[in-house]
Amino acid sequence: MSFQSFHFTFSEVAPTFDEILDFLKSSDLEEEHPAIVFIRDILTELNFDTGISGGYILKKIESLNVKKGIIKIEKQELDLGRQVCGYIREATQTAMFLCTAGEDFTRMTNQLNEQGDIMEAYILDAIGSLTVEKAMDRIQESLKNEFGGKGFKISNRYSPGYCNWPLSDQKTLFNLIGGNQTGITLSDSCLMTPRKSVSGIIGIGEHLKHHEYGCVICNNSTCIYRKILHE
Ligand code: SF4
Repeated sequence: MSFQSFHFTFSEVAPTFDEILDFLKSSDLEEEHPAIVFIRDILTELNFDTGISGGYILKKIESLNVKKGIIKIEKQELDLGRQVCGYIREATQTAMFLCTAGEDFTRMTNQLNEQGDIMEAYILDAIGSLTVEKAMDRIQESLKNEFGGKGFKISNRYSPGYCNWPLSDQKTLFNLIGGNQTGITLSDSCLMTPRKSVSGIIGIGEHLKHHEYGCVICNNSTCIYRKILHE
């Protein structure tokens, strides 16, 4: 099966004003605060029609060993770790995904930083993070609907660098995903370009049980997913 592509305009996946404030933990700021004024202005200014894209490719799981924390796909091993393997233990296939909010966020954030507008750059960076997750929510919803109709369930999404899945596995993940239209590239140190991009897997299975992320007992205090998905 080939890579299923999705493209969005900013208005289709834009975070709301309240979601941005929640993410920044700034819900109690006054209306005249510069951060509030900037968020209101920038939300009307951001009007990208292109660049926000993503998708997934379906792959059969050849074996899944929770004890070793390893799954095998097309003879390649992914070192998911026991935590993620446990979350998807009943999966028989995976959707390997990529999604990006595009290069415009990086360009604009860099510009703000260069001008010395550090607070504005920080806010825009946060909007980029929320945008890519909202685009990914749409893709995940589409996957859920497609497989739900066939009697299958899907898991949460998991990414290298989180939930004890080593970031270095990005290389195998990208290798397995292969050619696609997102334009996302990977550096030798496993960082993605554009910066506001995500990658990972979603488990799929007829008997898959839903497992919550283990954030309550996780000591990753800087995890962006804890902020976006669970607080
Ligand atoms: S905080 Fe939650 S999502 Fe983040 S790494 Fe920990 S368990 Fe995973």
